[in-house]
Amino acid sequence: MNILLINLPRYKSIPVTREERCELITISRVDTPATLLIIASLLRDDGHKIEFIDANALDLSYSEILERTINKKIDCVIFPFNSQIIDHDLEICDIAKKIDPSCITIGFSWHARCYAREILMEYSNFDIYIIGPTLSVIGSLIKCISENEDLGNVGGTAYRSTDNIIKLNDEIGSEVKFNNLPMPAYDLLPSFDPYYVLNPFIRPYALVYAGKGCPFKCMYCNVAKTKYSGRSPDDIIKELKILKKSGNVKYVWIFDEIFTINRKRVIEVCERIIEEDINIKWFCDSRVDLVDEELLKMMRKGGCIGISYGVESGSQKILDSMNKGITVKQARNALVWTRKAHIPIQLNLTLGFIGEDEESLRETESFVRATLPETLQIGQVTAKPGTGFTQLAIKNKWARGEINWKDHLTKGLELTDYEPFNLDLHNEIIKLNRILQHNPKWWINNINALIRNPELILPAIRMFIRGY
Ligand code: SF4
Repeated sequence: MNILLINLPRYKSIPVTREERCELITISRVDTPATLLIIASLLRDDGHKIEFIDANALDLSYSEILERTINKKIDCVIFPFNSQIIDHDLEICDIAKKIDPSCITIGFSWHARCYAREILMEYSNFDIYIIGPTLSVIGSLIKCISENEDLGNVGGTAYRSTDNIIKLNDEIGSEVKFNNLPMPAYDLLPSFDPYYVLNPFIRPYALVYAGKGCPFKCMYCNVAKTKYSGRSPDDIIKELKILKKSGNVKYVWIFDEIFTINRKRVIEVCERIIEEDINIKWFCDSRVDLVDEELLKMMRKGGCIGISYGVESGSQKILDSMNKGITVKQARNALVWTRKAHIPIQLNLTLGFIGEDEESLRETESFVRATLPETLQIGQVTAKPGTGFTQLAIKNKWARGEINWKDHLTKGLELTDYEPFNLDLHNEIIKLNRILQHNPKWWINNINALIRNPELILPAIRMFIRGY
Protein backbone atom coordinates (compact mmCIF):
# COMPACT_ATOMS: atom_id res chain seq x y z
CA MET A 1 0.00 0.00 0.00
CA ASN A 2 0.99 3.64 -0.47
CA ILE A 3 0.84 5.19 2.98
CA LEU A 4 1.22 8.82 3.95
CA LEU A 5 2.38 9.35 7.53
CA ILE A 6 1.91 12.88 8.65
CA ASN A 7 2.70 14.93 11.71
CA LEU A 8 0.02 17.61 11.39
CA PRO A 9 0.58 21.36 11.05
CA ARG A 10 1.25 23.74 13.89
CA TYR A 11 -1.68 25.42 15.62
CA LYS A 12 -1.79 29.18 14.95
CA SER A 13 1.95 28.94 14.18
CA ILE A 14 2.68 27.35 17.58
CA PRO A 15 4.43 23.94 17.51
CA VAL A 16 2.34 20.99 18.67
CA THR A 17 3.45 17.76 20.37
CA ARG A 18 1.27 14.74 19.61
CA GLU A 19 3.00 11.90 21.42
CA GLU A 20 0.16 9.77 22.77
CA ARG A 21 0.41 10.47 26.54
CA CYS A 22 1.69 13.97 25.89
CA GLU A 23 -0.36 16.54 24.00
CA LEU A 24 1.18 20.00 24.07
CA ILE A 25 0.87 23.26 22.19
CA THR A 26 3.98 25.22 23.07
CA ILE A 27 6.79 27.26 21.64
CA SER A 28 9.19 25.56 24.04
CA ARG A 29 9.73 22.42 21.97
CA VAL A 30 9.55 20.91 18.52
CA ASP A 31 9.70 17.16 19.07
CA THR A 32 10.73 14.53 16.57
CA PRO A 33 7.50 12.53 15.96
CA ALA A 34 8.87 9.36 17.56
CA THR A 35 5.78 7.16 17.43
CA LEU A 36 5.13 8.04 13.80
CA LEU A 37 8.75 7.27 12.90
CA ILE A 38 8.49 3.82 14.52
CA ILE A 39 5.24 3.20 12.60
CA ALA A 40 7.08 4.18 9.39
CA SER A 41 9.74 1.54 10.08
CA LEU A 42 7.21 -1.15 10.96
CA LEU A 43 5.14 -0.59 7.83
CA ARG A 44 8.16 -0.25 5.57
CA ASP A 45 9.43 -3.58 6.89
CA ASP A 46 6.04 -5.04 5.95
CA GLY A 47 6.63 -3.91 2.35
CA HIS A 48 4.50 -0.76 2.21
CA LYS A 49 5.59 2.39 0.41
CA ILE A 50 5.90 5.22 2.89
CA GLU A 51 5.60 8.97 2.31
CA PHE A 52 6.45 11.00 5.41
CA ILE A 53 5.69 14.66 6.13
CA ASP A 54 6.46 16.44 9.39
CA ALA A 55 4.33 19.53 8.80
CA ASN A 56 4.80 20.63 12.41
CA ALA A 57 8.59 20.74 12.11
CA LEU A 58 8.61 22.32 8.65
CA ASP A 59 5.76 24.68 9.54
CA LEU A 60 3.67 23.62 6.55
CA SER A 61 0.02 24.57 6.25
CA TYR A 62 -2.76 22.24 5.10
CA SER A 63 -2.75 23.84 1.66
CA GLU A 64 1.00 23.21 1.36
CA ILE A 65 0.40 19.57 2.33
CA LEU A 66 -2.26 19.36 -0.36
CA GLU A 67 0.12 20.88 -2.95
CA ARG A 68 2.80 18.31 -2.06
CA THR A 69 0.50 15.33 -2.28
CA ILE A 70 -2.28 16.13 -4.75
CA ASN A 71 -0.94 14.07 -7.65
CA LYS A 72 0.23 11.14 -5.58
CA LYS A 73 -1.45 7.80 -5.17
CA ILE A 74 -2.13 7.47 -1.47
CA ASP A 75 -4.17 4.57 -0.08
CA CYS A 76 -4.21 5.71 3.48
CA VAL A 77 -3.11 8.54 5.72
CA ILE A 78 -1.95 7.89 9.28
CA PHE A 79 -1.60 10.70 11.81
CA PRO A 80 -1.54 11.35 15.57
CA PHE A 81 -3.88 14.12 16.68
CA ASN A 82 -3.95 16.47 19.64
CA SER A 83 -7.39 16.30 21.23
CA GLN A 84 -7.23 19.89 22.52
CA ILE A 85 -7.28 21.15 18.94
CA ILE A 86 -9.37 18.41 17.42
CA ASP A 87 -11.12 20.60 14.80
CA HIS A 88 -7.77 21.85 13.56
CA ASP A 89 -6.11 18.44 13.54
CA LEU A 90 -8.93 16.45 11.96
CA GLU A 91 -8.98 18.84 9.00
CA ILE A 92 -6.42 16.37 7.65
CA CYS A 93 -9.30 13.94 7.00
CA ASP A 94 -10.96 16.43 4.60
CA ILE A 95 -7.59 17.07 2.91
CA ALA A 96 -7.00 13.33 2.50
CA LYS A 97 -10.36 12.87 0.81
CA LYS A 98 -9.47 15.75 -1.55
CA ILE A 99 -6.27 13.93 -2.50
CA ASP A 100 -8.29 10.80 -3.16
CA PRO A 101 -11.87 10.17 -1.97
CA SER A 102 -11.04 6.49 -1.41
CA CYS A 103 -8.04 7.30 0.80
CA ILE A 104 -8.53 5.79 4.29
CA THR A 105 -7.89 8.12 7.22
CA ILE A 106 -6.41 6.56 10.39
CA GLY A 107 -5.73 8.63 13.50
CA PHE A 108 -4.70 8.10 17.10
CA SER A 109 -4.83 10.10 20.32
CA TRP A 110 -4.54 8.43 23.72
CA HIS A 111 -6.36 11.28 25.47
CA ALA A 112 -9.55 11.25 23.40
CA ARG A 113 -10.08 7.52 23.06
CA CYS A 114 -13.05 7.36 25.45
CA TYR A 115 -14.89 9.66 23.01
CA ALA A 116 -14.02 7.62 19.90
CA ARG A 117 -17.66 7.02 18.99
CA GLU A 118 -18.62 10.69 19.27
CA ILE A 119 -15.55 11.75 17.30
CA LEU A 120 -16.24 9.38 14.40
CA MET A 121 -19.85 10.54 14.36
CA GLU A 122 -18.84 14.20 14.19
CA TYR A 123 -16.03 13.93 11.62
CA SER A 124 -17.47 11.98 8.71
CA ASN A 125 -14.16 11.84 6.81
CA PHE A 126 -12.35 10.25 9.76
CA ASP A 127 -12.47 6.50 9.05
CA ILE A 128 -10.52 4.61 11.72
CA TYR A 129 -9.55 5.71 15.22
CA ILE A 130 -6.87 3.58 16.89
CA ILE A 131 -8.04 3.40 20.51
CA GLY A 132 -5.56 0.77 21.72
CA PRO A 133 -1.79 1.17 22.09
CA THR A 134 -0.96 2.37 18.58
CA LEU A 135 2.18 0.32 18.05
CA SER A 136 0.34 -2.87 19.03
CA VAL A 137 -2.53 -2.17 16.65
CA ILE A 138 -1.05 -0.59 13.54
CA GLY A 139 0.57 -3.65 11.94
CA SER A 140 -2.52 -5.85 12.07
CA LEU A 141 -4.76 -2.95 11.07
CA ILE A 142 -2.82 -2.17 7.88
CA LYS A 143 -2.54 -5.89 7.07
CA CYS A 144 -6.31 -6.22 7.44
CA ILE A 145 -6.96 -3.20 5.17
CA SER A 146 -4.48 -4.33 2.52
CA GLU A 147 -5.99 -7.82 2.46
CA ASN A 148 -9.53 -6.44 2.39
CA GLU A 149 -10.51 -8.26 5.53
CA ASP A 150 -13.15 -7.39 8.09
CA LEU A 151 -11.95 -4.65 10.46
CA GLY A 152 -13.91 -6.34 13.21
CA ASN A 153 -10.95 -8.71 13.55
CA VAL A 154 -8.59 -5.91 14.56
CA GLY A 155 -8.62 -5.12 18.26
CA GLY A 156 -7.98 -1.59 19.51
CA THR A 157 -9.93 0.21 16.79
CA ALA A 158 -13.10 2.25 16.34
CA TYR A 159 -14.39 2.54 12.79
CA ARG A 160 -17.36 3.18 10.56
CA SER A 161 -18.71 -0.01 9.03
CA THR A 162 -19.94 -0.24 5.43
CA ASP A 163 -23.51 0.26 6.64
CA ASN A 164 -22.34 3.48 8.34
CA ILE A 165 -22.52 2.22 11.89
CA ILE A 166 -19.75 3.15 14.34
CA LYS A 167 -18.15 0.04 15.79
CA LEU A 168 -15.74 -0.20 18.70
CA ASN A 169 -13.42 -3.12 19.23
CA ASP A 170 -11.24 -2.57 22.25
CA GLU A 171 -10.02 -6.15 22.71
CA ILE A 172 -6.28 -6.04 22.02
CA GLY A 173 -4.98 -9.40 20.78
CA SER A 174 -1.34 -9.16 21.77
CA GLU A 175 0.63 -6.17 22.92
CA VAL A 176 3.82 -5.27 21.11
CA LYS A 177 6.98 -5.66 23.16
CA PHE A 178 8.94 -2.46 22.86
CA ASN A 179 12.16 -4.33 22.50
CA ASN A 180 10.96 -6.05 19.34
CA LEU A 181 10.20 -2.81 17.54
CA PRO A 182 12.45 -1.56 14.75
CA MET A 183 14.50 1.64 15.00
CA PRO A 184 12.52 4.80 14.17
CA ALA A 185 12.91 5.65 10.46
CA TYR A 186 15.10 8.71 11.00
CA ASP A 187 16.18 8.58 7.36
CA LEU A 188 12.73 9.98 6.48
CA LEU A 189 13.45 13.27 8.23
CA PRO A 190 15.07 15.81 5.90
CA SER A 191 17.27 16.93 8.83
CA PHE A 192 17.27 17.40 12.60
CA ASP A 193 17.58 21.18 12.29
CA PRO A 194 13.96 22.05 13.13
CA TYR A 195 13.87 20.08 16.37
CA TYR A 196 14.64 21.60 19.76
CA VAL A 197 13.66 21.20 23.40
CA LEU A 198 13.05 23.75 26.16
CA ASN A 199 14.02 26.48 23.74
CA PRO A 200 15.59 26.88 20.31
CA PHE A 201 19.17 26.81 21.60
CA ILE A 202 18.91 23.19 22.68
CA ARG A 203 19.32 21.42 19.34
CA PRO A 204 19.86 19.24 17.32
CA TYR A 205 17.45 17.24 19.43
CA ALA A 206 15.35 14.07 19.31
CA LEU A 207 12.62 12.55 21.44
CA VAL A 208 13.45 8.92 22.20
CA TYR A 209 11.49 6.12 23.85
CA ALA A 210 13.39 3.65 26.01
CA GLY A 211 10.02 2.14 26.87
CA LYS A 212 6.37 3.00 27.42
CA GLY A 213 3.69 2.44 30.05
CA CYS A 214 3.33 3.06 33.78
CA PRO A 215 2.02 0.65 36.42
CA PHE A 216 1.44 3.34 39.06
CA LYS A 217 -2.02 4.56 39.98
CA CYS A 218 -1.98 8.35 40.23
CA MET A 219 -5.61 9.49 40.20
CA TYR A 220 -5.11 12.48 37.89
CA CYS A 221 -3.17 10.60 35.19
CA ASN A 222 -4.58 8.86 32.12
CA VAL A 223 -1.53 6.63 31.61
CA ALA A 224 -1.93 5.11 35.08
CA LYS A 225 -2.06 1.31 35.27
CA THR A 226 -0.79 0.77 31.73
CA LYS A 227 1.54 -2.13 31.04
CA TYR A 228 5.21 -1.19 30.94
CA SER A 229 7.38 -2.47 28.14
CA GLY A 230 11.00 -1.41 27.87
CA ARG A 231 13.84 -1.66 25.39
CA SER A 232 17.19 -3.28 26.10
CA PRO A 233 20.32 -1.18 26.69
CA ASP A 234 21.67 -2.53 23.36
CA ASP A 235 18.68 -1.17 21.52
CA ILE A 236 18.77 2.22 23.25
CA ILE A 237 22.49 2.62 22.62
CA LYS A 238 22.02 1.64 18.99
CA GLU A 239 19.43 4.40 18.56
CA LEU A 240 21.63 7.01 20.26
CA LYS A 241 24.47 6.10 17.90
CA ILE A 242 22.18 6.42 14.87
CA LEU A 243 21.10 9.86 16.09
CA LYS A 244 24.71 10.90 16.54
CA LYS A 245 25.79 9.60 13.17
CA SER A 246 22.83 10.69 11.04
CA GLY A 247 22.05 14.09 12.57
CA ASN A 248 24.83 14.89 15.02
CA VAL A 249 22.06 15.01 17.61
CA LYS A 250 23.36 16.49 20.84
CA TYR A 251 20.26 16.41 23.03
CA VAL A 252 17.69 13.75 23.70
CA TRP A 253 14.57 13.60 25.86
CA ILE A 254 14.08 10.03 27.02
CA PHE A 255 10.31 10.23 26.94
CA ASP A 256 9.28 7.18 29.00
CA GLU A 257 6.73 7.93 31.68
CA ILE A 258 9.46 6.87 34.17
CA PHE A 259 12.88 6.19 32.69
CA THR A 260 14.28 4.94 36.01
CA ILE A 261 11.66 2.21 36.39
CA ASN A 262 14.41 -0.33 35.64
CA ARG A 263 17.46 0.73 37.64
CA LYS A 264 19.79 -1.93 36.24
CA ARG A 265 19.03 -0.88 32.68
CA VAL A 266 19.63 2.82 33.41
CA ILE A 267 23.03 1.98 34.92
CA GLU A 268 23.95 -0.11 31.88
CA VAL A 269 22.85 2.57 29.43
CA CYS A 270 24.89 5.20 31.29
CA GLU A 271 27.98 2.95 31.43
CA ARG A 272 27.74 2.29 27.71
CA ILE A 273 27.29 6.00 26.89
CA ILE A 274 30.53 6.68 28.78
CA GLU A 275 32.51 3.66 27.52
CA GLU A 276 31.50 4.15 23.91
CA ASP A 277 32.00 7.91 24.11
CA ILE A 278 28.59 8.71 22.69
CA ASN A 279 28.64 12.25 24.02
CA ILE A 280 24.94 12.99 24.11
CA LYS A 281 23.15 15.02 26.77
CA TRP A 282 19.73 13.95 27.90
CA PHE A 283 16.68 14.79 29.96
CA CYS A 284 14.16 12.38 31.45
CA ASP A 285 11.08 12.04 33.64
CA SER A 286 11.28 10.09 36.85
CA ARG A 287 9.63 9.33 40.18
CA VAL A 288 11.19 10.25 43.50
CA ASP A 289 10.84 6.67 44.79
CA LEU A 290 12.74 5.27 41.81
CA VAL A 291 16.04 7.09 42.20
CA ASP A 292 18.88 6.90 44.70
CA GLU A 293 22.12 8.74 45.27
CA GLU A 294 24.34 6.28 43.42
CA LEU A 295 21.98 5.98 40.45
CA LEU A 296 21.73 9.76 40.07
CA LYS A 297 25.52 10.15 40.11
CA MET A 298 25.78 7.55 37.38
CA MET A 299 23.05 9.28 35.36
CA ARG A 300 24.96 12.53 35.58
CA LYS A 301 28.15 10.86 34.35
CA GLY A 302 26.11 9.31 31.54
CA GLY A 303 25.02 12.75 30.30
CA CYS A 304 21.79 13.53 32.20
CA ILE A 305 21.29 17.32 32.36
CA GLY A 306 17.75 17.49 33.65
CA ILE A 307 15.15 15.45 35.50
CA SER A 308 11.49 16.27 35.72
CA TYR A 309 9.84 14.96 38.89
CA GLY A 310 6.07 14.92 39.28
CA VAL A 311 5.98 15.41 43.04
CA GLU A 312 2.70 17.37 42.77
CA SER A 313 2.40 18.38 46.45
CA GLY A 314 4.43 18.89 49.60
CA SER A 315 1.58 17.57 51.73
CA GLN A 316 1.40 13.87 52.60
CA LYS A 317 -2.36 14.14 52.93
CA ILE A 318 -2.66 15.30 49.31
CA LEU A 319 -0.14 12.76 48.00
CA ASP A 320 -2.21 10.01 49.60
CA SER A 321 -5.42 11.48 48.23
CA MET A 322 -3.86 11.45 44.74
CA ASN A 323 -2.80 7.82 45.15
CA LYS A 324 0.67 9.02 44.27
CA GLY A 325 2.39 6.24 46.20
CA ILE A 326 5.27 8.40 47.46
CA THR A 327 6.13 10.16 50.69
CA VAL A 328 7.22 13.76 51.21
CA LYS A 329 10.40 12.36 52.78
CA GLN A 330 11.20 10.37 49.63
CA ALA A 331 10.63 13.51 47.57
CA ARG A 332 12.95 15.61 49.74
CA ASN A 333 15.66 12.94 49.64
CA ALA A 334 15.40 12.54 45.87
CA LEU A 335 15.75 16.28 45.31
CA VAL A 336 18.74 16.50 47.67
CA TRP A 337 20.48 13.58 45.89
CA THR A 338 19.69 15.05 42.47
CA ARG A 339 21.28 18.35 43.45
CA LYS A 340 24.30 16.53 44.88
CA ALA A 341 24.63 14.74 41.54
CA HIS A 342 24.55 18.20 39.84
CA ILE A 343 21.47 17.43 37.76
CA PRO A 344 19.11 20.41 37.32
CA ILE A 345 15.62 19.69 38.67
CA GLN A 346 12.21 20.49 37.27
CA LEU A 347 9.57 20.11 39.96
CA ASN A 348 5.98 19.63 38.82
CA LEU A 349 3.19 20.62 41.19
CA THR A 350 -0.55 20.05 40.87
CA LEU A 351 -2.58 22.22 43.21
CA GLY A 352 -6.23 21.96 44.23
CA PHE A 353 -6.55 18.19 44.50
CA ILE A 354 -9.19 16.66 46.78
CA GLY A 355 -8.47 17.72 50.37
CA GLU A 356 -6.34 20.76 49.48
CA ASP A 357 -6.60 23.47 52.13
CA GLU A 358 -4.57 26.32 53.59
CA GLU A 359 -2.45 23.90 55.60
CA SER A 360 -1.58 21.64 52.65
CA LEU A 361 -0.67 24.67 50.54
CA ARG A 362 1.65 25.91 53.28
CA GLU A 363 3.23 22.43 53.36
CA THR A 364 3.87 22.65 49.61
CA GLU A 365 5.41 26.09 50.08
CA SER A 366 7.68 24.65 52.82
CA PHE A 367 8.67 21.84 50.49
CA VAL A 368 9.65 24.29 47.76
CA ARG A 369 11.51 26.45 50.30
CA ALA A 370 13.46 23.43 51.54
CA THR A 371 14.31 21.91 48.15
CA LEU A 372 14.73 24.99 45.89
CA PRO A 373 14.25 23.26 42.51
CA GLU A 374 15.79 25.08 39.54
CA THR A 375 12.47 25.12 37.67
CA LEU A 376 8.88 24.94 38.84
CA GLN A 377 5.95 23.82 36.72
CA ILE A 378 2.69 24.56 38.52
CA GLY A 379 -0.83 23.65 37.44
CA GLN A 380 -4.26 23.06 38.89
CA VAL A 381 -5.86 19.63 38.89
CA THR A 382 -7.95 19.04 35.77
CA ALA A 383 -10.37 16.27 34.91
CA LYS A 384 -8.67 14.86 31.83
CA PRO A 385 -10.63 12.16 30.01
CA GLY A 386 -9.85 8.67 31.23
CA THR A 387 -8.51 9.44 34.72
CA GLY A 388 -9.62 8.20 38.14
CA PHE A 389 -10.21 11.82 39.16
CA THR A 390 -12.59 12.32 36.22
CA GLN A 391 -14.52 9.19 37.18
CA LEU A 392 -14.93 10.65 40.67
CA ALA A 393 -15.95 14.01 39.22
CA ILE A 394 -18.65 12.34 37.15
CA LYS A 395 -19.82 10.12 40.02
CA ASN A 396 -20.02 13.06 42.41
CA LYS A 397 -21.61 15.33 39.78
CA TRP A 398 -18.94 18.01 40.22
CA ALA A 399 -19.58 19.12 36.64
CA ARG A 400 -23.11 20.44 36.35
CA GLY A 401 -25.41 19.15 33.61
CA GLU A 402 -24.59 16.99 30.60
CA ILE A 403 -20.91 16.61 29.73
CA ASN A 404 -20.19 17.89 26.25
CA TRP A 405 -17.42 15.64 24.88
CA LYS A 406 -15.85 18.30 22.69
CA ASP A 407 -15.74 20.86 25.48
CA HIS A 408 -14.23 18.20 27.72
CA LEU A 409 -11.42 17.60 25.22
CA THR A 410 -10.77 21.17 24.21
CA LYS A 411 -11.53 23.20 27.33
CA GLY A 412 -11.55 20.60 30.11
CA LEU A 413 -14.43 19.76 32.44
CA GLU A 414 -15.78 22.76 34.25
CA LEU A 415 -16.02 21.45 37.80
CA THR A 416 -18.60 23.94 39.01
CA ASP A 417 -19.51 21.93 42.10
CA TYR A 418 -15.97 20.86 43.01
CA GLU A 419 -14.81 23.22 45.69
CA PRO A 420 -12.68 21.43 48.22
CA PHE A 421 -10.84 24.67 48.55
CA ASN A 422 -11.11 28.06 46.95
CA LEU A 423 -7.73 27.99 45.24
CA ASP A 424 -6.28 31.19 43.82
CA LEU A 425 -3.90 29.51 41.39
CA HIS A 426 -2.42 32.72 40.01
CA ASN A 427 -1.60 33.95 43.47
CA GLU A 428 -0.08 30.60 44.49
CA ILE A 429 2.11 30.52 41.39
CA ILE A 430 3.42 33.99 42.21
CA LYS A 431 3.98 33.00 45.85
CA LEU A 432 5.85 29.79 45.02
CA ASN A 433 8.06 31.48 42.43
CA ARG A 434 8.82 34.29 44.86
CA ILE A 435 9.93 31.73 47.45
CA LEU A 436 12.60 30.72 44.98
CA GLN A 437 13.53 34.11 43.60
CA HIS A 438 13.84 35.72 47.03
CA ASN A 439 16.25 33.08 48.23
CA PRO A 440 19.96 33.80 47.48
CA LYS A 441 20.66 30.06 47.75
CA TRP A 442 18.37 29.41 44.78
CA TRP A 443 20.35 31.90 42.69
CA ILE A 444 23.62 30.31 43.77
CA ASN A 445 22.24 26.85 42.88
CA ASN A 446 21.19 28.10 39.47
CA ILE A 447 24.52 29.78 38.77
CA ASN A 448 26.29 26.57 39.78
CA ALA A 449 23.99 24.56 37.54
CA LEU A 450 24.82 26.86 34.61
CA ILE A 451 28.56 26.67 35.26
CA ARG A 452 28.30 22.86 35.25
CA ASN A 453 26.02 22.82 32.21
CA PRO A 454 27.33 25.62 29.98
CA GLU A 455 25.02 24.47 27.18
CA LEU A 456 22.16 25.77 29.30
CA ILE A 457 23.51 29.34 29.68
CA LEU A 458 22.07 30.82 26.47
CA PRO A 459 18.73 29.07 26.93
CA ALA A 460 18.59 30.34 30.52
CA ILE A 461 19.29 33.93 29.43
CA ARG A 462 16.60 33.70 26.78
CA MET A 463 14.19 32.16 29.28
CA PHE A 464 14.92 34.95 31.74
CA ILE A 465 14.36 37.71 29.18
CA ARG A 466 11.37 36.26 27.35
CA GLY A 467 9.79 34.24 30.13
CA TYR A 468 10.04 30.82 28.47
S1 SF4 B 1 3.85 7.89 37.90
FE1 SF4 B 1 1.74 8.50 38.10
S2 SF4 B 1 1.66 10.47 36.97
FE2 SF4 B 1 3.55 9.45 36.34
S3 SF4 B 1 2.95 8.37 34.49
FE3 SF4 B 1 2.73 6.93 36.22
S4 SF4 B 1 0.60 7.07 36.84
FE4 SF4 B 1 1.06 8.84 35.54
